[in-house]
Amino acid sequence: MGKQALLYEGKAKKLYKTGEEGVLWVEYLNQATALNGAKKDEVLGKGELNNQITSKIFEKLKKFGILSHFIEKVSKTEQLVKEVTIVPLEVVVRNVAAGSFSKRLDVPEGQPLKFPIVEFYYKEDRLDDPLINEDHILALEIATTEQIQEIKTLTQQLNQALLTIFKELSIRLIDFKVEFGLDSRGKILLADEISPDTCRLWDLKTNEHLDKDIYRRDLGDIVPVYKEVLRRLEEKE
Ligand code: UDP
Repeated sequence: MGKQALLYEGKAKKLYKTGEEGVLWVEYLNQATALNGAKKDEVLGKGELNNQITSKIFEKLKKFGILSHFIEKVSKTEQLVKEVTIVPLEVVVRNVAAGSFSKRLDVPEGQPLKFPIVEFYYKEDRLDDPLINEDHILALEIATTEQIQEIKTLTQQLNQALLTIFKELSIRLIDFKVEFGLDSRGKILLADEISPDTCRLWDLKTNEHLDKDIYRRDLGDIVPVYKEVLRRLEEKE
Protein backbone atom coordinates (compact mmCIF):
# COMPACT_ATOMS: atom_id res chain seq x y z
CA MET A 1 0.00 0.00 0.00
CA GLY A 2 1.47 3.35 -1.02
CA LYS A 3 0.57 6.98 -0.48
CA GLN A 4 -1.61 8.60 -3.09
CA ALA A 5 -3.29 12.02 -3.41
CA LEU A 6 -2.64 14.62 -0.71
CA LEU A 7 -5.86 15.12 1.26
CA TYR A 8 -4.86 17.72 3.80
CA GLU A 9 -1.82 19.57 5.05
CA GLY A 10 -1.85 20.68 8.68
CA LYS A 11 0.72 22.49 10.80
CA ALA A 12 2.71 19.37 11.67
CA LYS A 13 1.34 16.60 9.44
CA LYS A 14 0.33 15.78 5.89
CA LEU A 15 -2.51 13.36 5.20
CA TYR A 16 -2.69 11.26 2.05
CA LYS A 17 -5.16 8.79 0.60
CA THR A 18 -4.05 5.19 0.13
CA GLY A 19 -5.37 2.62 -2.35
CA GLU A 20 -7.44 1.17 0.47
CA GLU A 21 -10.86 2.48 1.45
CA GLY A 22 -10.91 3.90 4.99
CA VAL A 23 -7.11 3.95 5.42
CA LEU A 24 -5.04 7.15 5.36
CA TRP A 25 -1.30 7.74 5.22
CA VAL A 26 0.10 10.30 7.68
CA GLU A 27 3.45 12.00 7.25
CA TYR A 28 4.90 13.83 10.25
CA LEU A 29 6.69 17.05 9.28
CA ASN A 30 9.75 18.78 10.69
CA GLN A 31 7.64 21.78 11.54
CA ALA A 32 7.31 23.30 15.00
CA THR A 33 4.52 25.82 15.59
CA ALA A 34 3.12 27.69 18.55
CA LEU A 35 0.68 30.55 19.16
CA ASN A 36 -1.75 29.12 16.59
CA GLY A 37 0.93 29.13 13.89
CA ALA A 38 2.26 32.65 14.56
CA LYS A 39 5.60 31.15 15.73
CA LYS A 40 6.90 28.66 13.19
CA ASP A 41 10.24 26.91 12.61
CA GLU A 42 11.70 24.00 10.70
CA VAL A 43 13.19 21.56 13.24
CA LEU A 44 15.25 18.80 11.69
CA GLY A 45 14.34 15.38 13.12
CA LYS A 46 11.09 16.47 14.78
CA GLY A 47 8.77 14.60 12.38
CA GLU A 48 10.66 11.38 12.94
CA LEU A 49 10.59 11.75 16.72
CA ASN A 50 6.88 12.57 16.96
CA ASN A 51 5.91 9.74 14.61
CA GLN A 52 7.91 7.26 16.63
CA ILE A 53 6.71 8.54 20.02
CA THR A 54 3.03 8.69 18.97
CA SER A 55 3.19 5.21 17.42
CA LYS A 56 4.69 3.74 20.59
CA ILE A 57 2.11 5.43 22.81
CA PHE A 58 -0.84 4.27 20.67
CA GLU A 59 0.59 0.74 20.76
CA LYS A 60 0.96 0.87 24.54
CA LEU A 61 -2.60 2.20 24.86
CA LYS A 62 -3.91 -0.84 22.97
CA LYS A 63 -2.63 -2.97 25.84
CA PHE A 64 -4.80 -0.87 28.18
CA GLY A 65 -7.81 -1.60 25.93
CA ILE A 66 -7.81 1.93 24.52
CA LEU A 67 -8.38 1.86 20.79
CA SER A 68 -7.38 4.62 18.40
CA HIS A 69 -7.25 5.33 14.71
CA PHE A 70 -3.61 4.13 14.65
CA ILE A 71 -2.92 1.10 12.44
CA GLU A 72 0.87 0.88 12.09
CA LYS A 73 4.08 2.82 11.60
CA VAL A 74 5.30 2.43 8.00
CA SER A 75 8.50 4.46 8.08
CA LYS A 76 10.40 6.72 10.45
CA THR A 77 8.16 9.67 9.62
CA GLU A 78 4.98 7.94 8.43
CA GLN A 79 2.10 5.87 9.78
CA LEU A 80 -1.18 4.39 8.58
CA VAL A 81 -4.40 5.37 10.35
CA LYS A 82 -8.10 4.62 10.00
CA GLU A 83 -9.95 7.41 8.23
CA VAL A 84 -12.22 9.31 10.61
CA THR A 85 -14.15 12.55 10.50
CA ILE A 86 -12.56 14.66 13.18
CA VAL A 87 -14.95 16.13 15.76
CA PRO A 88 -13.82 19.78 15.83
CA LEU A 89 -12.94 19.76 19.52
CA GLU A 90 -9.59 19.92 21.25
CA VAL A 91 -10.14 17.94 24.43
CA VAL A 92 -7.70 18.96 27.14
CA VAL A 93 -7.15 17.05 30.38
CA ARG A 94 -5.30 18.66 33.27
CA ASN A 95 -3.83 16.81 36.23
CA VAL A 96 -1.63 19.68 37.37
CA ALA A 97 -2.08 23.41 36.78
CA ALA A 98 0.00 24.84 33.92
CA GLY A 99 -0.13 26.93 30.77
CA SER A 100 -3.35 28.73 29.88
CA PHE A 101 -5.14 27.34 32.97
CA SER A 102 -2.55 28.87 35.30
CA LYS A 103 -2.65 32.18 33.44
CA ARG A 104 -6.44 32.45 33.18
CA LEU A 105 -7.19 31.45 36.77
CA ASP A 106 -3.99 32.61 38.48
CA VAL A 107 -3.11 29.17 39.82
CA PRO A 108 0.65 28.54 40.15
CA GLU A 109 2.13 26.20 37.56
CA GLY A 110 2.85 22.82 39.14
CA GLN A 111 -0.03 22.91 41.64
CA PRO A 112 -1.74 19.49 41.56
CA LEU A 113 -5.49 19.66 40.84
CA LYS A 114 -8.01 17.96 43.16
CA PHE A 115 -9.19 15.81 40.23
CA PRO A 116 -8.46 15.67 36.48
CA ILE A 117 -10.19 18.57 34.73
CA VAL A 118 -11.54 18.09 31.21
CA GLU A 119 -11.84 21.17 29.01
CA PHE A 120 -13.17 21.59 25.48
CA TYR A 121 -11.81 24.02 22.92
CA TYR A 122 -13.57 24.63 19.61
CA LYS A 123 -11.08 23.60 16.92
CA GLU A 124 -11.36 26.62 14.66
CA ASP A 125 -8.13 28.46 13.76
CA ARG A 126 -10.11 31.52 12.58
CA LEU A 127 -11.35 31.98 16.18
CA ASP A 128 -8.08 30.93 17.86
CA ASP A 129 -9.62 27.72 19.25
CA PRO A 130 -11.82 29.27 22.00
CA LEU A 131 -12.61 27.51 25.29
CA ILE A 132 -16.24 26.32 25.15
CA ASN A 133 -18.62 24.38 27.40
CA GLU A 134 -21.03 21.51 26.79
CA ASP A 135 -23.98 23.85 26.08
CA HIS A 136 -21.91 25.55 23.37
CA ILE A 137 -21.09 22.16 21.86
CA LEU A 138 -24.78 21.19 21.77
CA ALA A 139 -26.04 24.58 20.56
CA LEU A 140 -23.46 24.72 17.77
CA GLU A 141 -24.19 21.06 16.92
CA ILE A 142 -20.53 20.11 17.23
CA ALA A 143 -21.51 16.87 19.01
CA THR A 144 -24.58 15.27 20.61
CA THR A 145 -25.13 14.73 24.34
CA GLU A 146 -24.29 11.03 23.91
CA GLN A 147 -21.12 11.83 21.96
CA ILE A 148 -19.97 14.34 24.60
CA GLN A 149 -20.57 11.75 27.32
CA GLU A 150 -18.64 9.11 25.42
CA ILE A 151 -15.76 11.51 24.71
CA LYS A 152 -15.59 12.38 28.42
CA THR A 153 -15.59 8.72 29.46
CA LEU A 154 -12.92 7.78 26.90
CA THR A 155 -10.83 10.79 27.90
CA GLN A 156 -10.89 9.88 31.60
CA GLN A 157 -9.86 6.28 30.78
CA LEU A 158 -7.13 7.59 28.50
CA ASN A 159 -5.83 9.88 31.24
CA GLN A 160 -5.55 6.98 33.70
CA ALA A 161 -3.68 4.87 31.13
CA LEU A 162 -1.35 7.72 30.14
CA LEU A 163 -0.60 8.54 33.79
CA THR A 164 0.50 4.92 34.26
CA ILE A 165 2.51 4.81 31.01
CA PHE A 166 4.39 8.02 31.74
CA LYS A 167 4.96 7.23 35.43
CA GLU A 168 6.84 4.13 34.28
CA LEU A 169 9.09 6.48 32.31
CA SER A 170 9.66 8.68 35.38
CA ILE A 171 7.55 11.38 33.78
CA ARG A 172 4.74 13.44 35.34
CA LEU A 173 1.83 13.91 32.96
CA ILE A 174 0.79 17.50 33.68
CA ASP A 175 -1.81 17.92 30.93
CA PHE A 176 -2.53 16.92 27.34
CA LYS A 177 -4.75 17.56 24.34
CA VAL A 178 -6.46 14.91 22.24
CA GLU A 179 -8.88 14.79 19.37
CA PHE A 180 -11.57 12.27 18.50
CA GLY A 181 -13.07 11.22 15.18
CA LEU A 182 -16.07 9.32 13.90
CA ASP A 183 -15.43 6.24 11.76
CA SER A 184 -17.68 5.24 8.85
CA ARG A 185 -20.12 3.59 11.29
CA GLY A 186 -20.26 6.66 13.53
CA LYS A 187 -18.12 5.07 16.27
CA ILE A 188 -15.98 7.52 18.27
CA LEU A 189 -12.28 6.78 18.03
CA LEU A 190 -9.25 8.45 19.59
CA ALA A 191 -7.34 10.18 16.76
CA ASP A 192 -4.56 12.67 15.93
CA GLU A 193 -1.36 12.27 17.97
CA ILE A 194 -0.07 11.91 21.53
CA SER A 195 3.44 13.30 21.74
CA PRO A 196 5.53 15.95 23.51
CA ASP A 197 3.86 18.40 21.11
CA THR A 198 0.47 17.70 22.67
CA CYS A 199 1.33 16.77 26.28
CA ARG A 200 3.10 18.59 29.11
CA LEU A 201 5.64 16.11 30.41
CA TRP A 202 7.84 16.94 33.39
CA ASP A 203 10.68 14.79 34.65
CA LEU A 204 9.49 13.12 37.86
CA LYS A 205 12.63 13.99 39.80
CA THR A 206 13.78 17.34 38.40
CA ASN A 207 10.51 18.81 36.98
CA GLU A 208 12.52 19.52 33.81
CA HIS A 209 10.23 20.16 30.79
CA LEU A 210 10.27 17.27 28.32
CA ASP A 211 7.78 18.83 25.89
CA LYS A 212 6.94 21.62 23.49
CA ASP A 213 7.10 24.28 26.22
CA ILE A 214 10.84 24.23 25.47
CA TYR A 215 9.94 25.67 22.06
CA ARG A 216 6.96 27.79 23.09
CA ARG A 217 8.97 29.48 25.83
CA ASP A 218 12.32 29.62 24.01
CA LEU A 219 14.02 27.41 26.61
CA GLY A 220 16.31 25.63 24.14
CA ASP A 221 16.38 22.85 21.53
CA ILE A 222 13.45 20.41 21.52
CA VAL A 223 15.28 17.63 19.64
CA PRO A 224 17.38 16.29 22.57
CA VAL A 225 14.37 16.53 24.85
CA TYR A 226 12.03 14.60 22.48
CA LYS A 227 14.87 12.09 21.97
CA GLU A 228 14.96 11.56 25.72
CA VAL A 229 11.20 10.79 25.78
CA LEU A 230 11.67 8.29 22.92
CA ARG A 231 14.68 6.74 24.66
CA ARG A 232 12.65 6.18 27.83
CA LEU A 233 9.79 4.64 25.80
CA GLU A 234 12.20 2.29 24.02
CA GLU A 235 13.84 1.35 27.30
CA LYS A 236 10.48 0.24 28.75
CA GLU A 237 9.26 -1.80 25.76
N1 UDP B 1 -2.26 21.81 23.42
C1 UDP B 1 -2.09 21.29 22.15
N2 UDP B 1 -2.48 22.04 21.07
C2 UDP B 1 -3.06 23.26 21.21
C3 UDP B 1 -3.22 23.79 22.51
C4 UDP B 1 -2.81 23.03 23.59
O1 UDP B 1 -1.60 20.17 21.97
O2 UDP B 1 -3.40 23.88 20.19
C5 UDP B 1 -1.84 21.00 24.58
C6 UDP B 1 -0.62 21.57 25.27
O3 UDP B 1 0.55 20.96 24.79
C7 UDP B 1 -0.87 21.21 26.72
C8 UDP B 1 -2.39 21.17 26.86
O4 UDP B 1 -2.89 21.04 25.53
O5 UDP B 1 -0.35 19.92 26.98
C9 UDP B 1 -2.97 22.38 27.52
O6 UDP B 1 -2.52 23.53 26.85
P1 UDP B 1 -2.90 25.00 27.39
O7 UDP B 1 -4.38 25.19 27.29
O8 UDP B 1 -2.29 25.20 28.72
O9 UDP B 1 -2.33 25.96 26.29
P2 UDP B 1 -0.91 26.65 26.08
O10 UDP B 1 -0.36 27.03 27.40
O11 UDP B 1 -0.13 25.61 25.36
O12 UDP B 1 -1.28 27.81 25.22
